[in-house]
Amino acid sequence: MRLTVQWSHDRALSCHHQAPENLARAPNLQDYDSFTAGYGLDQARALVEGLPQGGLNIAHEAVDRHVHAGRGDRIALRWLGKDDSVREYSYRQLMAESNRFASVLSGLGIGRGERVFSLCGRQPELYIAALGTLKNGSVFSPLFAAFGPEPVRSRMEIGEARLLVTTASLYRKKVLPWRNELPSLGQVLLIDAGDDLPDGCLSLAALMADADPGHAVAATRPDDMALLHFTSGTTGRPKGAIHVHEAVVFHTLTGLYALDLHPDDIYWCTADPGWVTGTSYGIIAPLSLGVTLIVDEAEFDAERWYRILEQQRVAVWYTAPTAIRMLMKAGSEFAQQHDLSALRFLASVGEPLNPEAVVWGQRTFGIPFHDNWWQTETGGIMIANYAAETVKPGSMGRPLPGIEAGIVRRTDTGVSEVTAAGEVGELALKPGWPSMFRGYLHEQARYEKCFAGGWYLSGDLASRDEDGYYWFVGRADDVIKSAGHLIGPFEVESALLEHPAVAEAAVVGIPDEVAGETIKAYVALKPGFCASGELRREIQGLARKRLGAAVAPKAIAFRENLPKTRSGKIMRRLLKARELGLPEGDISTLESDER
Ligand code: ATP
Ligand code: MG
Repeated sequence: MRLTVQWSHDRALSCHHQAPENLARAPNLQDYDSFTAGYGLDQARALVEGLPQGGLNIAHEAVDRHVHAGRGDRIALRWLGKDDSVREYSYRQLMAESNRFASVLSGLGIGRGERVFSLCGRQPELYIAALGTLKNGSVFSPLFAAFGPEPVRSRMEIGEARLLVTTASLYRKKVLPWRNELPSLGQVLLIDAGDDLPDGCLSLAALMADADPGHAVAATRPDDMALLHFTSGTTGRPKGAIHVHEAVVFHTLTGLYALDLHPDDIYWCTADPGWVTGTSYGIIAPLSLGVTLIVDEAEFDAERWYRILEQQRVAVWYTAPTAIRMLMKAGSEFAQQHDLSALRFLASVGEPLNPEAVVWGQRTFGIPFHDNWWQTETGGIMIANYAAETVKPGSMGRPLPGIEAGIVRRTDTGVSEVTAAGEVGELALKPGWPSMFRGYLHEQARYEKCFAGGWYLSGDLASRDEDGYYWFVGRADDVIKSAGHLIGPFEVESALLEHPAVAEAAVVGIPDEVAGETIKAYVALKPGFCASGELRREIQGLARKRLGAAVAPKAIAFRENLPKTRSGKIMRRLLKARELGLPEGDISTLESDER
């Protein structure tokens, strides 16, 4: 099975690292091949300190360790409020606050391994609750504040929530309607409790005021459950992935090598902690490496984002293709009005980063765009483009040190490995890295189905080139089979995005008697462009030129926007279900969209 078109491979683009002079800094990973050759996970484990009394706790690595090492005055977290207010926490303050939260939990009788949920926006209390929960040896599960009442209820039911941290209005709207149906839920702590505290709720601020800032960290073991993260639900019902304290080893390693974090960096991750990226790389990795973390409370706004990059002097920025496409849609004029010279390293995750976006990023920011690939299940970055290496636009890069990746095909008896360059198969990983998920909570059979022949099977299709770089083809569920061709949505969508009018594109396979499937594209236009038959023909013409008639979409429908998960992933399965008049399936993570 060969990719029908590999046009992005040979689109030569020089993307060498061009750090601004004032911030030029030797990358942490200088020479990929020689570094990874001898690198094992035992060496990775030396990146963490461990608790003084023995054991390992993520929050100790993320916070306390820096205070004990004399770096307590450094700003750990700089929070930017929607109203432009700013709150800062040094590592010392974050240590005291998270200790207080652990002491609150322990005072309320919340024990080791018990689940603490959060349902709130990106507020400092969320970060303190996350770290404090880990310090108490309890398990933290952050929920996205924009979820409706049912997605909140079902996740808290699966997770057997003991305690919830939320706000008064979110509680009234999203929890109160069903609270009595969830007997496991003991306490609800309100971040913004006023005088009219609802029944069965406590004021977080009042409890924190009486709590112990010197509360001792629980002696958790590396294999103790630490986090429960629900997947994005792009392909179906979300799964609750279990992560353990040892994951911090890999968060530290990937923060160093995949994100190239240096201790005096200002770092901004735009992901919400309701998704794994917002926890692994929005809390744990950057704090474990002692950087200053920017947290923005507000939602996407192109002008605001450029302002933050400029004013905060962000050096390392980790964002997502959907955000980049929105910036592209807003136009590069915005970018030109800002001084972005502090930016040294730019990375993206969550969806394929179209070559067009890489080219745009290079032009707009003057530095390469580093795509990287991972999943809720892997807990941390598995495949990445590195600071010192050449970026091949459209490629996800190469495996992290200590990670063995492969391309495999499922057979009746197990799996067989594909070794030839350019051949497409399922992206697989040899299990055993520290941030590997340890199960889907209460779904053992679903978990076991992820493994075969000694591999963890990702459910994504990819190929590997002769230099060992991985190229994303599509999710196995989204791949289209048309007239004997196997077509990855990514290559078709990337070709459509080359048209100057196209802001976003998604393609799906529509059943066809002759071809098996034909390709239908859904396209959202940039401002200033109007849908017309002429534009449709133009876009189709470009796609034919790039991809050939067999692979170019047969039909194009214009949309205001495309259905996405709240983590920013296009839900192709929903476009297809609607097209075919089939049930929509689980849409608990869907952001509102135009049909
Ligand atoms: P669900 O498993 O519930 O369907 P999901 O797979 O979208 O949801 P996540 O774990 O949040 O949930 O996302 C991981 C997936 O995101 C990957 O399996 C892959 O399909 C996609 N992805 C992540 N990074 C990249 C990337 N750099 N390039 C292409 N795809 C990516
Ligand atoms: Mg998935």
